[in-house]
Amino acid sequence: MDYLKAIEIAPDVFWVGYVIEDDPFQCHVYLIKNGDESILIDPGSMITFPVVHEKITSVVPLKDIKYIIMHHQDPDITGCYSTLEKLFPQGERYIVTHYRSETLLKHNQWKTPFYLVDKNDWKLKAGERELEFVFTPYAHFPGAFCTYDKKSGVLFSSDLFGAFMPEFELFAKSVEEYFEYAKLFHEHYIPCKTVLQNALKHIEKKNLKIIAPQHGSIIKKEIINPLIKKLKDLDCGLYLMDEKVSDIKILMTTEEVCKHFINDIISHSEFEIVLENLFYHIKHNLKKLKKIRICGKSLLTNNKICFEYDDFKTNENEEEFFLITKYLYNEKNKKTGELNIYMGDKLTQEEEKFLNLLLKHIISPLTVSLEKEIMFIVLKKRNKFFHKRAITDNLTELYNREFMEEYLNKKILEAKRYHFPLSIALIDIDFFKKVNDKNGHLIGDCVLKEIGKIMKEFFRGSDVAIRYGGEEFVIILPFSKLKDACKRIEEFRKEIENYIFCRKKHIKITISSGVYEINEKDNLKNLLENADKKLYIAKKSGRNKVIC
Ligand code: GH3
Ligand code: MG
Ligand code: MG
Repeated sequence: MDYLKAIEIAPDVFWVGYVIEDDPFQCHVYLIKNGDESILIDPGSMITFPVVHEKITSVVPLKDIKYIIMHHQDPDITGCYSTLEKLFPQGERYIVTHYRSETLLKHNQWKTPFYLVDKNDWKLKAGERELEFVFTPYAHFPGAFCTYDKKSGVLFSSDLFGAFMPEFELFAKSVEEYFEYAKLFHEHYIPCKTVLQNALKHIEKKNLKIIAPQHGSIIKKEIINPLIKKLKDLDCGLYLMDEKVSDIKILMTTEEVCKHFINDIISHSEFEIVLENLFYHIKHNLKKLKKIRICGKSLLTNNKICFEYDDFKTNENEEEFFLITKYLYNEKNKKTGELNIYMGDKLTQEEEKFLNLLLKHIISPLTVSLEKEIMFIVLKKRNKFFHKRAITDNLTELYNREFMEEYLNKKILEAKRYHFPLSIALIDIDFFKKVNDKNGHLIGDCVLKEIGKIMKEFFRGSDVAIRYGGEEFVIILPFSKLKDACKRIEEFRKEIENYIFCRKKHIKITISSGVYEINEKDNLKNLLENADKKLYIAKKSGRNKVIC
């Protein structure tokens, strides 16, 4: 493409700009060839004027230019006009602009009269051609507007859709690439998201074939919609991030990391993932980063809890790192924790600026998120503790009846569905009343406690021992047929018979038991009833027995 010549970007619509060398902020000039009512758009500065002038006259004679659109009053748009005005031959001619720009432009004391878009129903009829003006207030100037040429479908978008480009490109190559350049430009140029979204909303309504911005690259039809979609999501007003930092690269990077971080906080319940992601988002911009550690205290237990993330590859020694520490404070300004960031090397001034700015923005949400996580961990621990208490018998530390009902119901269902055997044994201490009567309640308790301990050890693995109440116990034996269950309980009976309880008192006891294996028709209730019937027989027939 020959940038030294005027380039026709749509029928009768020309780019007549000048490429300024090594300048990421190029300023374009456009011309609509329209007989003796031709239209010049944003004529430019004195830097670009000599070449622009040549190009204009290569398309139309100066006398044919009737309208000069000035989208606003900045020198990159209007700087050449004092010179250009003198070159125009006598004739009817207008500066097309908004009242807000006119109030400033009139100070130039040019002779050309104004045609105010806001006083002319946002339209201009130039011969057969119709121009429509789209009001885009505050983007980036109160009286900002764009110009839409109905015939060609070209939108002259002024600052909107502009970009900072590392290298001059008249046409944007791809949405992805151009968006990166446009992003930087819009985020600091446009004061806020609402302003940008409002402008885009009105622009979208036009039947757009090409967008010709004053800066950046020309955008062809296929890129327009996806680009608008991406721009709508952009957070603007970048300079509001900090009262001192005005380096837009630093502001933009910081903003980006912040955005990722806040998204992570919202979408991830696990703090560890939030921290890991934060680590990589910082590292992406700060290669020296080695490790992040954050510690806080639980409000409930006062325990210190820490989280850390690093990606050490070798045996690096953190003693040799540069440590940056920030303290965390709660809303009452009380110190609640600290954040330690380890760097492999000293930070440059730029890097320090970035990190400080970032920390300034993320420290509060990070503190809140950490507090939440610590609270969650502590509550989870407590929950576990209370749950255990709710299903455990205090004296024997065996499971209690509440647990048994839930567990046994589940086992009955499983046994029926998967056809595996399930037996239960009801065990009762013989003449326990006498133990109490003879030795006192405390010794009775001692016996119960010790029998609990023996049961726990004796019935390990898949069997479960339960204190059913008083001096009665239930043993659940999944996968045991009646015969095997009986054998096992019989062994237990013998163990108890031979055991000496509460050593000093030398207590001897015996037990009786009824064992029953589930069949298809059984439920929790008759399962226990059937075992109880067998136990009754054991008692009746002399005690110290297992009846199957
Ligand atoms: P049997 O052989 O017919 O079962 O006679 P038993 O005396 O064991 O039966 P009974 O049901 O008449 O008495 C049970 C006794 O168990 C009565 C009660 O004082 C005692 N007991 C129940 N729970 C506890 C407890 O937690 N601690 C103590 N020390 N005794 C308990
Ligand atoms: Mg009893
Ligand atoms: Mg008893």
